Amino acid sequence: MEKVMIVGCGAYMDGGYGCPGEWRCLKAAALGEGNYENPSQAISFVKCECPGRALVSNIGMAMKLSEIKPDKIYLSSCLVNAKPGCPYVTPDEMMEAIQAKFKIPMIKGTHDYH
Ligand code: SF4
Repeated sequence: MEKVMIVGCGAYMDGGYGCPGEWRCLKAAALGEGNYENPSQAISFVKCECPGRALVSNIGMAMKLSEIKPDKIYLSSCLVNAKPGCPYVTPDEMMEAIQAKFKIPMIKGTHDYH
């Protein structure tokens, strides 16, 4: 089973929109729905914090402390589709920075639930 890390937008989470982090990303991973090709094991959930400067190092810290390198890193659907979007970085720029550092395949978005 693939091991995956999920990255969520902290501003969105703290805004009380019910997303991400309570069930959608995790259910989709468990059942292999949405952008997950197969049931996958979510081994870490990293919360981005504005303005996002610490995100790459926090991802590295999650891997180091958990001692698990994920097979894929997913940006949560809420992070990718938030309206208004992130004022600091686009999802593509975020993916580029993470991929450049860790060389782990990245997927944009996790689920299609409402
Ligand atoms: S920097 Fe952008 S993606 Fe990160 S928490 Fe803030 S708004 Fe969300």
